[in-house]
Amino acid sequence: MTTSVKQFGMTINGETVYTKNTLPVINPANEEVIAQVPHADENDLNLAVHAARAAFPSWAALSVEERAQMLEEFADAIEQNSEELARLFTLEMGRPYQGALQEVSGAAKTVKFYAKQRLPREILQDKDTHYVEKYYTPLGVAGLIVPWNFPVSLAVWKVSPALLTGNTVVLKPSPNTPLTTLYLGELAKDIFPKGVFNVITGANELGAWMTEHSGIDKISFTGSTGTGKKVMQGAAINLKRVTLELGGNDAAIVLEDADPKKVAKPLFWAAFLNTAQVCVATKRLYVHEKIYDELLTELVNYAKTVKVGDGMDPETQLGPLQNKTQYEKVKGIIEDTKRSGAKIVLGGEIDESKPGYFIPITIVDNPADDSRVVVEEAFGPILPVLKYHEYDDVIQRANNTIYGLGASVWGEDLALARSIADRLEAGTVWINEAQVLHPKFPFGGHKQSGIGVEHSLEGITEYTNTKVVMIRKNK
Ligand code: NAD
Repeated sequence: MTTSVKQFGMTINGETVYTKNTLPVINPANEEVIAQVPHADENDLNLAVHAARAAFPSWAALSVEERAQMLEEFADAIEQNSEELARLFTLEMGRPYQGALQEVSGAAKTVKFYAKQRLPREILQDKDTHYVEKYYTPLGVAGLIVPWNFPVSLAVWKVSPALLTGNTVVLKPSPNTPLTTLYLGELAKDIFPKGVFNVITGANELGAWMTEHSGIDKISFTGSTGTGKKVMQGAAINLKRVTLELGGNDAAIVLEDADPKKVAKPLFWAAFLNTAQVCVATKRLYVHEKIYDELLTELVNYAKTVKVGDGMDPETQLGPLQNKTQYEKVKGIIEDTKRSGAKIVLGGEIDESKPGYFIPITIVDNPADDSRVVVEEAFGPILPVLKYHEYDDVIQRANNTIYGLGASVWGEDLALARSIADRLEAGTVWINEAQVLHPKFPFGGHKQSGIGVEHSLEGITEYTNTKVVMIRKNK
């Protein structure tokens, strides 16, 4: 498969726009620069926001069926271009090609799913003196800010409900993974009216300018908790609506009746899928003392069979970390773990002689609860396995975090698992699986993992105003 990348422009007002300054895109598997992309300044942002504002009234005036029809066409375009999108995805993000292809196809299905959703018009009262109706109106221009770990699906999670409900959009990918998003802009340009779907690329400051821009009415942001706080501050300027999907430090609790042979493999993937760069990855694995040793052995044995490498190699199951900052952060956590004296039972040694942001699968045996590897969201392939002997205690330890995105419970006794799930402070709790998401189910974080939800009708309403019309009857 070729690794050449054509030159991409931004999509502003239905035109392809280039900038004098550019940003390099790096392939994390070999650290080579694979492309240069536009580096937007504030003027470019103003052009995109102006185009989106100008397009808003006529876009909002279309029927939802007309807008949904264009979303269907957009989904078809993604599907028809899925191989090229997946190739760019692997090159810029590092994820193995088959996984990238699955994500792109999943994204097309997600757009189709949204195209079929309709927010209800509800008659709240129709008797005596009043007729009262509730419905939803679009907000205006939605600024959509996406991270680098799932650049295609996280973009369409935002674009689809925003456009369906009649907003126009300015979409900004992470500077680390701009290519797939620029490509989405190219596809959208031939489908949506001018100015409805704008894509701009630039450095992190572009995100900050968006949050403060008076021409943007809503920010939907996915990224780290630290940046989410800045987004909320910036959005306060004109009281923008915000949806924040932020970091997580998901606990998985394995009950004493779980079968280590059965759960080791799904637990491994719950923790390490996409080289653990998943907001809802299992980042702390609590195992009952009765099965702790056996499960740890099973987990390590399975991990040894998993191939880490360049995502373009069909044998590869886990790619590199996506960027140098992330690589350095995970390296720091590994060093800290070693310094603390905790036992690393797999991995932990980084081969720095070769290019690429590769970190081996690393498993830590029962580190202290207050160690960095337990407290921080590593967002990389290092998993602390922690021993517990009492359910009340493990629930308290699992909840002892600023995060509340996801969690999971594993075992045969479903009633016990359910009672534990009900006590975990997280937006989604899975039993005997993890990381399963569907656009029909609301997804969002408790505590500092976010504000609001994406998906489901509840998530779609986040791109709308609730409006009530009250008619006094002539009686
Ligand atoms: P990040 O916060 O560094 O960046 C996310 C996006 O924000 C990027 O597009 C970036 O350019 C932009 N940005 C940077 N500074 C900004 C600012 N001051 N104002 C506005 N935008 C700004 O996050 P990341 O490193 O790209 O992604 C990893 C993080 O994302 C992890 O914490 C992960 O858990 C989280 N995440 C959460 C979810 C979820 O749904 N909850 C999903 C995926 C990733």
